[in-house]
Amino acid sequence: MRWTMIAACALAFAAGCSGNKANSGTDATATATVQAQPAKNMNYKCPECGYGSMTAGDCPKDKISLVKVGNYYCPECYMSDSLPGKCKMCGVEMKKME
Ligand SMILES: [Zn+2]
Ligand SMILES: [Zn+2]
Repeated sequence: MRWTMIAACALAFAAGCSGNKANSGTDATATATVQAQPAKNMNYKCPECGYGSMTAGDCPKDKISLVKVGNYYCPECYMSDSLPGKCKMCGVEMKKME
């Protein structure tokens, strides 16, 4: 019968109950394992050398901004945009980062 109470507590806690309960049980089922994205599937890539990263930033080799996969980038100045078209700076066709 105690399990129902524990479950109710867990639900209340998950629902954002303000009660700061002391650790009554060590059955930590509340820690939901968030599925990490596959390491192979990089979110950002360097348009110059193809260096991949999970987060936005600069390529450590080329010192240019990484382009988000699925976005478009200028092959001349590496400016990126979420939409296809011509680079505002160079006027050349943007390429899609795959
Ligand atoms: Zn690079
Ligand atoms: Zn450009």
